[in-house]
Amino acid sequence: MMMTMMSTNLACSSIAVALLFYSLSGVSAFVPNLPGPSTRGHVQTHLQAVVQSPEFSSVASHLEALSAVEYLQKLPRPDKPSTVIVMGGGLAGLSTAKHLVDAGHIPVVLEARDLLGGKVAAWRDTDGDVTETGLHVFFGAYPNALTLFSQLGISDRLQWKPHQMLFAKPGRPTREFAVFDFPAILPAPLNAGFAILKCTDMLTWSEKIQLGIGLIPAYLQGQSYVEAQEGVTVKEWMDARGIPQSVTDEIFIAMSKALGFIGPETLSMQCVLIALNRFLQETNGSRIAFLDGSPTERLCEPLKEYIQARGGIIRTGVPVKRILVNDDNTVAGLLLKGNEVVSADAYINAMPVDALKKLTPDPWREMDYFQRIQKLRGVPVMNLHIWFDRKLSTVDNLIFSRSPLLSVYADMSEACNGYASKDTSMLELVLAPAGKYMSKSDDEILQATLKELERLFPQEIRADGSMAKVSKFTLVRTPTSVYETLPGMEAARPTQKSPIHNFYCAGDFSLQKYLASMEGAILSGLLAARTLADEHLERQGDTTYAAARKLTERLADPLAADANDKTPDRTMYVSKRSPVPPEVQEELSNGALVGLV
Ligand SMILES: Cc1cc2nc3c(=O)[nH]c(=O)nc-3n(C[C@H](O)[C@H](O)[C@H](O)COP(=O)(O)OP(=O)(O)OC[C@H]3O[C@@H](n4cnc5c(N)ncnc54)[C@H](O)[C@@H]3O)c2cc1C
Repeated sequence: MMMTMMSTNLACSSIAVALLFYSLSGVSAFVPNLPGPSTRGHVQTHLQAVVQSPEFSSVASHLEALSAVEYLQKLPRPDKPSTVIVMGGGLAGLSTAKHLVDAGHIPVVLEARDLLGGKVAAWRDTDGDVTETGLHVFFGAYPNALTLFSQLGISDRLQWKPHQMLFAKPGRPTREFAVFDFPAILPAPLNAGFAILKCTDMLTWSEKIQLGIGLIPAYLQGQSYVEAQEGVTVKEWMDARGIPQSVTDEIFIAMSKALGFIGPETLSMQCVLIALNRFLQETNGSRIAFLDGSPTERLCEPLKEYIQARGGIIRTGVPVKRILVNDDNTVAGLLLKGNEVVSADAYINAMPVDALKKLTPDPWREMDYFQRIQKLRGVPVMNLHIWFDRKLSTVDNLIFSRSPLLSVYADMSEACNGYASKDTSMLELVLAPAGKYMSKSDDEILQATLKELERLFPQEIRADGSMAKVSKFTLVRTPTSVYETLPGMEAARPTQKSPIHNFYCAGDFSLQKYLASMEGAILSGLLAARTLADEHLERQGDTTYAAARKLTERLADPLAADANDKTPDRTMYVSKRSPVPPEVQEELSNGALVGLV
C-alpha cells in the first residue's frame, strides 16, 4: 500500500514537473518537415540502424515483476497438481497457463478460434502478408510483458524505437510533426520535462499555464486524487478547471483515442492519470517497442511451446458454450461445441468481458461480483492495413495521427522487421472511435481513410489515387474490443479471486493496475495463476475443504448441429450460450461424487 502511495506520488510529481516545464517553456520546438522520402531532422526515418534496447534490470517495477514470476517458480510443488481449464487463448489465457505450469499445475487452454492471440491475433493471406487484429506497441513501462519476453528468451524480438512521441500535424502543405524528444542522459521525470520544454508548438502560453495549474492537485494529493477522478470524463475535468477546448483538441483527443478508442467526452479522466502515472515515472517508461512480426507467430507460438513443454495442453477451435454449475454454485464442467463436456479441478476465465457476460450462469447473476461485471462492455475499433506501391516519407515509430477518423498509425515496412520493405510502405492504422463506421463497407472505409491520409501525406497521397497507389487493403473490425473506459468502470472490474471457489478471472478487464492492455492481460494471468496456486497449497492441508463435484467428461458428438462450426480468422468469436443436453442436465440434477483435492 505504502509502495503504491509512494509510486503514485512520484508519478504525479512527474506529471506536475512535466507540466510545469510545459507551462513555463517558451523555446521554439523543432518541427521536422519531411517533403518526400527524407532522412533529415530529429525523427528517425527509413530503415535506420538498430536502436539499442534500454536496460531494465535495475528498475523497481521490473524487479517486482521478476520476483512475482520467481515466487511461482519457487513455490513448493503441489502434492497433486490441479488440472485447470483456462477459457480463452489470448495473452491473458496464455499468461495464465504459463504461470500455472511454473507453479506445477496442469492448464488446459480452450480457445474458440483456430488461432491463438485474441486481440493480438494475426494471420497470413495468400501472398504471405500478415493482417493483425490491432496495431500493437509495447512500452518500457510494461514490466510484466518484458519479463515474459525475457523468460521465453525472445527479448530480441522487441524492436525499440528512439525515445520520442510524435504527433502529426495534419492539413499542412508539407508533412510535419510535433516531436517530444526524451533525452537519454536525463532520468525521469526530467526527461519528460525536457521533452515537453522543447516541444512548444501545440499549445499557447496561457493554455499551458491553465493546464499546469489544473494538475497541481494531482501533485499535492497523489493517489486519492487519481481515484477521485474515476467519476468524471476528460472533458468534464477540463471544463471544470476552465481549461480551453483547444487543449483537448490539441492533445487529449489523440491521447483518449490511443488509450481507450473513445473521445475525451466519454473517457474517464482516471484512465489518463493512470497512464501518465505508469509512463512518466520511469526513465524509459514511455519508450516504444514494436514486435518484429506477427504476434501469433512471434509471441503466442513461443508461449504455447513453453506451456506444452511443461505438460500444459492447448486446444484451439473449441468455444465454450456454457458454464455448468452445481447446486452450490461451483463449476461442475463446461459444455463445448458438439455437446462435448470437459471438467477440471478449477476454471479460469480468460475470455473477453462480453463473452463472460453472455456465459455467466443464471444463479451467479444475483451476486454483486457478477452484477458489477455486467456494467463493462467492449468498445468497437477497427484496424486497417494499406499496402502502397511506393515508399512514403515515413518514420520508424508510432505516430499519433491527430485526425478525427484515425487514432495512431505506423509504417510497418519501417517499424517491424517481419514486414520490412525497402521499396514500398504498409501503413497500419487504428480507426477510432469506430462505432459509426462498423456498418460501412470496406470500400467506404478505405476512401474515408485515404481522405485523411491526404492531410497526413500532403505531397504523396491523394484519395483519387493520382499519387501513391493502393496495392492492397485489409480491414479487421472488432465490435467489442477492450472494455470501454467510461467513468465509474474501475469499480466494476472483477478481482482474479471470485466468490466461486473453483472459478477465477483473468483478462485485461480484470482488476490490475495496467488498464486494458497487453501488459494488463499478461499481469492478470500471473495474478490469477498466483491466486489459484496459493489457494491450492492452503487447501492441501485443510481436511474440511470439499472440492467441487465434477461432471463426467463426454466426447464431442460429430452429428451435433454445431459440431463443425468454425470461426473465420478475420472475426473475433462471438460467444453463444447453448442449451444443456438432457443427459448432462440429468447428471447435474442427480449429483455426482464429491471428492477432496
Ligand atoms: C486495435 C487494437 C489495438 C491495440 N493496441 C494495443 C497496444 O498498442 N498496446 C497494448 O498494450 N494493447 C493494445 N491493445 C489491447 C490489447 O490487445 C488487449 O488488451 C489484450 O490483447 C487483451 O488480451 P486478453 O487475453 O485479455 O483478451 P483477448 O485478446 O480478447 O483474448 C480472449 C480470447 O478468448 C477467446 N474466446 C472468446 N469467447 C470464447 C469462448 N466462448 N470460448 C473460448 N474462447 C473464447 C477469444 O477468441 C480470444 O482469443 C489493442 C487492442 C486492439 C483491438
